[in-house]
Amino acid sequence: MIELSSISKRYATPQGTVTALEGIDLSIREGEIFGVIGKSGAGKSTLIRLINLLERPDQGSVRVAGRDLTALPPASLRRARQEIGMIFQHFNLLATRTVFENIALPLELRGESKASIRATVEPLLDLVGLTDKRERYPSELSGGQKQRVGIARALATQPRVLLSDEATSALDPETTRSILALLKDINARLGLTIVLITHEMSVIKEVADRVAVLEQGKVIELGPVYDVFTRPRAETTRRFVGELVGGDLPPSLLRQIANDTATADPARRRVLRIRFTGGAAESPVLSTLARRFDLDFNLLHGRLDEIQGRPFGNLVVELLGDPARLDAAVKFLATQQLGVESLNYEQESGDVVRLDRAAG
Ligand code: ADP
Repeated sequence: MIELSSISKRYATPQGTVTALEGIDLSIREGEIFGVIGKSGAGKSTLIRLINLLERPDQGSVRVAGRDLTALPPASLRRARQEIGMIFQHFNLLATRTVFENIALPLELRGESKASIRATVEPLLDLVGLTDKRERYPSELSGGQKQRVGIARALATQPRVLLSDEATSALDPETTRSILALLKDINARLGLTIVLITHEMSVIKEVADRVAVLEQGKVIELGPVYDVFTRPRAETTRRFVGELVGGDLPPSLLRQIANDTATADPARRRVLRIRFTGGAAESPVLSTLARRFDLDFNLLHGRLDEIQGRPFGNLVVELLGDPARLDAAVKFLATQQLGVESLNYEQESGDVVRLDRAAG
């Protein structure tokens, strides 16, 4: 549906040339929700603005629905853009227009009749749940309601693609969830392709089918969201995922593990981080482990969640028992489609130091 080929984009600034994007190749499929995540300055806004040619690439081509937008004359480009709706972090509504009039704007601009505009806008008001607010002004709406107007306005020209530029970044978590649910609903009902950029992994987790991780203008990781979350390869991706699953252990827990390491018999104790990567449901694995290998376990830390109905998260457990059984248990874990990592910490002049990173 959207093909970005060999895209580069630089900006000339008084301080010199800034490379915003370099060698981007992306293929976004019809009907998918495609997320792009990256830190501030990674190139996300530039990337999304290239898709409707608000920004022109220095090199490369942008194809949407089979047409090379970079090659279109202005009039055809204007028409092609009507197939691409966009929503924004700060909504970009007109303060002097009502909800109805904001949604109607793109239709007025292309000269549609009042009757035709009403026939389009009314179902959209219903779709976004704002029928009772149609005569209100933006200043009378909550952030979530404003974004609903933004979404309805973006859909007014019946686009095939919706671009979302940090559309939930100004909203509280609950409103964010309701807007993301609306986007998912629209994607399912209208078959709309959605491209969204965000700096929040929770947004990606909530709605995206696939995700690209952008860093310094390059795509450093790309894949189905579940795969990227459970087997992140790049350090940046690991950090993004860590924000969600508690990848970093809290300092108090590190100290506790280090203290216990100093006092416990090391042969009879293992501290493991177990990452769920799809195969196993969480509780049977741990109870099987305790039963089958006659071990005790303490759950030290962790978070479990779900992506598209599949378990996802990590747990830090302490296993205690006979050394040979501990080895056998770690081997068993390795056969369960789980990521298993041994955690060994030591207290060293007040600091807690990681001893090794070896997987069990
Ligand atoms: P993000 O959306 O991930 O924060 P951007 O696409 O906004 O990243 O920016 C990528 C890089 O390009 C940054 O270094 C930014 O400073 C630079 N940049 C973006 N837009 C402009 C511009 N209009 N002029 C100069 N530099 C820009």
